Amino acid sequence: MLMKRGSRESAAKAGILLAEIESLAQSPFTIMEVCGTHTVAIAKNAIRELLPKSIRLVSGPGCPVCVTSNGDIDRYLYLAAQKNVITATFGDMIRVPGTEKNLQELRAEGGDIRVVYSTQDALELARQNPDKEVVFLGIGFETTVPTVAVSLEIAKREAIKNYSVLSMHKVVPPVLKLLAEDEQLLVDAFLDPGHVCSIIGIEPIKFMAKDYGKPGVVTGFEALDILEGIAMLLRQRAEGRSDIEIQYQRVAKPEGNPQAKMFIERVFERIDASWRGIGIIPQSGLGIRADYSPWDAARKFSLPVFQSRETPGCRCGDVLRGVIYPTQCPLFAKHCTSMKPIGPCMVSTEGSCAAYHRYAQRS
Ligand code: SF4
Repeated sequence: MLMKRGSRESAAKAGILLAEIESLAQSPFTIMEVCGTHTVAIAKNAIRELLPKSIRLVSGPGCPVCVTSNGDIDRYLYLAAQKNVITATFGDMIRVPGTEKNLQELRAEGGDIRVVYSTQDALELARQNPDKEVVFLGIGFETTVPTVAVSLEIAKREAIKNYSVLSMHKVVPPVLKLLAEDEQLLVDAFLDPGHVCSIIGIEPIKFMAKDYGKPGVVTGFEALDILEGIAMLLRQRAEGRSDIEIQYQRVAKPEGNPQAKMFIERVFERIDASWRGIGIIPQSGLGIRADYSPWDAARKFSLPVFQSRETPGCRCGDVLRGVIYPTQCPLFAKHCTSMKPIGPCMVSTEGSCAAYHRYAQRS
């Protein structure tokens, strides 16, 4: 598929990279692709099938919908069921199951759930519905957080009092540390998330190479980017190095995006956060600072905390930690399919299970 899709020049480059990978892959090497967008691109371009058998690619916890805990899902479902509340959300959250239902089912029962394409849409909903409370569901990593921070700045500046955000945002470096220390997980190196690192830069993840000897390459999302990222990791191994390098140089800079980081810092503060299948990771979440508390849905609605309960039989947590391939879940493709998903890793378009199911990956 890779060859058919690209131009002749791309196909030639892919051939050169694959030859280099082949020559450097003389012994086993396991690489985790951290980001869900990488997982989809790898599946869509059949990159696993193109690699030598000694190279294993395992998926990581980089699908923001998938890592949202059941407790957080039940919490926003509780909020979305309140009278007078309009829930504004990105479309990928609509079918994610909570303990009893999902947003789609809640909407069928009369809940006012609106799919938006940006936080600007959610703010506009608040302006147009002054007698309602508009709550935006804040899900995602450092990539999406700056726009949410800007929406809170605007709401504060314009005194839009009926807009708030339920922040379930997470940051990547703490989960990388946890993965590096996970004795069950035998990963040699990481394809680091290009979008996240375009915001935070590489300084916050350098500890992976320096302290844990886990090299990383910040990689883009085209098939050629991914092949080049893999080749760069193999070159590091061949040269006995452990560094964090950037393949995705057209977007990601070593220093990241200072303005986006400034907005995040101004509006959010680090808090402990619950990750599906992993549990609480200290300082891995982003809560809204007290200065913005009138726009913090958790405070505004005095939301209770819900305990996380995993969906029975779903191994999404193990998939997210790279401990099993989706195909090793007993429910995969039998009871859990793209048409009838059971867990969030199948529901989300960036979920590993969905990518494996849609593109029929080898494991
Ligand atoms: Fe969960 Fe379905 Fe994936 Fe199994 S295949 S881990 S049930 S989402």
